[in-house]
Amino acid sequence: MKPTVEYIREHFDLYNRQLFGGTLPVPPIHLTNARTYMGQMVCKKKVGLFGKKHFSDFRLRISQRFDFEETELQDTIIHEMIHYYIAYNQIDDTSAHGDTFRQMMNDINTRFSRHLTISHRTSREERLQVIGSQPRPRIFAVLTLTDGYHYIKAVPRIEQRILTMHQRLASSPIVTSIDWYFSTDPFFALFPVSMGTRAQRVDPAELQSHLTTATPLHCDGRTLHT
Ligand SMILES: [Zn+2]
Repeated sequence: MKPTVEYIREHFDLYNRQLFGGTLPVPPIHLTNARTYMGQMVCKKKVGLFGKKHFSDFRLRISQRFDFEETELQDTIIHEMIHYYIAYNQIDDTSAHGDTFRQMMNDINTRFSRHLTISHRTSREERLQVIGSQPRPRIFAVLTLTDGYHYIKAVPRIEQRILTMHQRLASSPIVTSIDWYFSTDPFFALFPVSMGTRAQRVDPAELQSHLTTATPLHCDGRTLHT
């Protein structure tokens, strides 16, 4: 669907009441033709004494360039509203999608069964463009953690490294499941390869759609085979 100002305005009002206690003044809403974002909350930023930031003059931009699914447009509006709420209340978050942002996003996802994500689809598409369409084979583990979310841990394609990572993950008290895969889908090339313990959270529906073409690998920490 193509976004319209009326639709955005109507949903802004709805989410303002549902999610933000009706505390947010309606900002000017602009439709744009941007390729680089689906939604964007812009404002003026002044840095005052002791580096304290002050935000004002908020505007909400939604790009018409994308053929949104309705829920995707709604999630985009809410995503931008979280940015708005944080800036409007002059809350100092740890980064653009910092602790406060994530906390609010996770809370909304849980309470209202939405699928807000940190990375907008466009930024992911941009990164995909940078990476190109050439297949980049990846071996990675899909993890479920005790928080109930899914994560991806990509490792070097060296058997010994995979076994080592498996043992490391298996001994972690917060890891509840580990499933290994091989894939050349460029989607997985977006996940950094490392032997560190950081894993990237991934949207389960999106993950599922890309896993259909991946090859499951069986690993017990001592052997690895398809
Ligand atoms: Zn954002």
